Amino acid sequence: MTRTLGVFGGGQLGALTAEAAKGLGWRTAALDPDPSAPALKLVDVPIAGKLDDLSAARRLAEASDVLTLEWELIPLPTLEEAARLKPLFPAPSVLANIQDRLVQRRFLEKNGFPQTEFGPAEAAADVPRYPAILKRRTHGYDGKGQFRADGAASAEASGVLAAPCVWEKIVPFEKEISVILARGRDGAVAVFPVAENLHRAGILHATRAPAEIDPSVAETAVALAKRIAEALGHVGVLAVEMFLRADGSLLVNEIAPRVHNSGHYTLGGCAVSQFEAHVRAVCGLPLPPLAPKGPAVMVNLLGDLWTGGEPDWRALDGVPGLALHLYGKASARPGRKMGHYTVVGAAAAEEWRRADERLSALAASARPRPAAPNPRRA
Ligand code: ATP
Ligand code: MG
Repeated sequence: MTRTLGVFGGGQLGALTAEAAKGLGWRTAALDPDPSAPALKLVDVPIAGKLDDLSAARRLAEASDVLTLEWELIPLPTLEEAARLKPLFPAPSVLANIQDRLVQRRFLEKNGFPQTEFGPAEAAADVPRYPAILKRRTHGYDGKGQFRADGAASAEASGVLAAPCVWEKIVPFEKEISVILARGRDGAVAVFPVAENLHRAGILHATRAPAEIDPSVAETAVALAKRIAEALGHVGVLAVEMFLRADGSLLVNEIAPRVHNSGHYTLGGCAVSQFEAHVRAVCGLPLPPLAPKGPAVMVNLLGDLWTGGEPDWRALDGVPGLALHLYGKASARPGRKMGHYTVVGAAAAEEWRRADERLSALAASARPRPAAPNPRRA
């Protein structure tokens, strides 16, 4: 009998998850407010509906045998309603510890996990005197809803405090790394090679794996992520972003209870991708060895590249070990994640160094848009 995996959220993460489920012989369903969302174009049962619409959530649950999500901010009442009807992983109780950044920090604090100093910020008086980042407690991603404040006055002026925030002391770090793991329903955990991440303007730019870090640091990072997954009672893929400081110590930046951009290198970079690992974990299927295939690099393709028109992808033809993934989004905007490419194997180290050159070449390859008609000449 064919089983169906239902996904809350239809962005690229949901689409890649659905593709992995199909590869395992499952049918797929997805719910997203945008009918043109990437996942809705490829699942067997696309449901266009708001994420806070309980009847849409029930429709997804009724169409599915197992439920999961691609985004941690699916409203809790939606998830609770769905979980009453069908098994949902991760469970709503996991999301309850994640969705609000302040609650997430308190969860980490309660369990003794290392992190930066933080506190609630609802008014300028709550902002510390030292440089701190203010982050909206909910609905921030890709650095949105964040502000680097230099005391109360700049925080006030930024307007970020219009919604409740958390302040975090700025961490001077050597590197950003992330651990992507999959935890099964039986509690068994499989861990991907630790990833090293480069962010630009708060958005992930590129990832390489394995990270160029001391093996003992990698071991500590993995142990930390495993303990977090257990403390949460998480099932599925979990990403833990961390800062590595000059003294070799690690601080947790944030937890994502889902497949993660910094794990995209596993698609082609490991025998089992993070998407397949997630599907296997939430569906209760055995997890085979993840089997990394060698060094891997992933570079994000943001909407900025489309400024002069769509890049001419032929510029990437013939690069050994390169795979291009475009998400099929209807329109490009600066900062919007439109796709990514990976390079796996011997060429990965070189690609890490020349990613910028590659992106410039792609931008230059774009076909210019036809000139807009000039009304004064008409
Ligand atoms: P995403 O969802 O893309 O991971 P986000 O909007 O949830 O991003 P964060 O991960 O909290 O945002 O922050 C984005 C980036 O900003 C981090 O990867 C890091 O480069 C920087 N950053 C965030 N918090 C701190 C901090 N306390 N100290 C130093 N840098 C920070
Ligand atoms: Mg982050």
